[in-house]
Amino acid sequence: MAEVILRDVKKIYDGGVVAVEGVNIEIKDREFVVLVGPSGCGKSTTLRMIAGLESISSGDLMIDGKRMNDVPPKDRDIAMVFQNYALYPHMSVYENMAFGLKLRKFPKDEIDRRVKEAAEILGIGPYLDRKPKALSGGQRQRVAVGRAIVRKPKVFLFDEPLSNLDAKLRVQTRTEINKLHRRLEATMVYVTHDQVEAMTMGDRIVVMKDGKVQQIDSPLNLYNQPVNKFVAGFIGSPSMNFLNGKVTRGDGGLNFRQSDGTLSLSLPDAAGARLDGRLDQELTLGIRPEDIYDASRAPQDRPLALGEAMVEVVEPMGNEIFLYLSTSGDTNRIGDSLVARLDARVAPSTGRMMPIALDMSKAHFFDRTTDLIIG
Ligand code: ADP
Repeated sequence: MAEVILRDVKKIYDGGVVAVEGVNIEIKDREFVVLVGPSGCGKSTTLRMIAGLESISSGDLMIDGKRMNDVPPKDRDIAMVFQNYALYPHMSVYENMAFGLKLRKFPKDEIDRRVKEAAEILGIGPYLDRKPKALSGGQRQRVAVGRAIVRKPKVFLFDEPLSNLDAKLRVQTRTEINKLHRRLEATMVYVTHDQVEAMTMGDRIVVMKDGKVQQIDSPLNLYNQPVNKFVAGFIGSPSMNFLNGKVTRGDGGLNFRQSDGTLSLSLPDAAGARLDGRLDQELTLGIRPEDIYDASRAPQDRPLALGEAMVEVVEPMGNEIFLYLSTSGDTNRIGDSLVARLDARVAPSTGRMMPIALDMSKAHFFDRTTDLIIG
């Protein structure tokens, strides 16, 4: 059992920097929770407070029902894996992994058993006699994880452990950590600024910004039901498109008119239901790239909003294409782009106006002042 609860946890650094503002997170036993957000949002500080490497200014940290605020790090039954691995250069892989257990006065044969078991799990058995400098980045990373595993802690904490690896190795190691989580059945808390890492690894994700939790949810719920514009824009790549404008009701039905572009969309009536009391008000329409279609190929069973935009850039990705569409039709204007993700069989030419269709069952509306979702 290892349940981690943060209740109104706050961190104010010396000098008055408020790094974490009253965070509430409940991490269940054996759960894999990812803290994600842009640089400086307070993720590492939160993790370091769980580890005991930073003091907690106010609030409670509970592990398995016990208040841990004043318990020294070594007595928290937690192991942390850092970004820079922090291996001892003069020690072999074996000694690096055994070190923590030696300090804790474990018997030699128990140390040996645990180191070999961890090496086996991580596939680093052949390197046990090597020094860290004779290992690749990926192998060093495994040793760092191995050093945590041998402790058999209740909770594993990871602070951007993949950021020093190249792109391919990151993807591979990501999968390995996922497998490890299943195999060890341990509670894991993982910090990253990379939303793809968060989406692919977490049972649940905590999205943070400016020291505050924005939303805690499963990856798919974050993607499909973001609570505000920040979460909507942070999760997903390419990002959700945002259009500022107003929805009005005219003779022909509902219309969305962009405030600073020429884009005008005729909306299906179904889109109006959640806009009760919001007609004629400035709001933000959010639509993901995959929910924008070439109107001639749009699925007809969806509530579609129809309009047109100019094709500025076509990026073929092989299996799909990314289209950069100018909503103003003015190719010299920056910042009026919509990104659409289309089937690779469509080959629009640049410089042409293209009829577009937005799937309104997937669109979101946000309040312009609070950025909160409407409806
Ligand atoms: P993240 O991990 O999300 O990048 P951090 O938790 O490292 O964010 O930092 C959160 C905020 O606290 C930032 O504004 C950062 O500058 C500040 N901060 C971090 N460590 C210290 C420190 N030791 N002293 C003062 N301010 C700090």
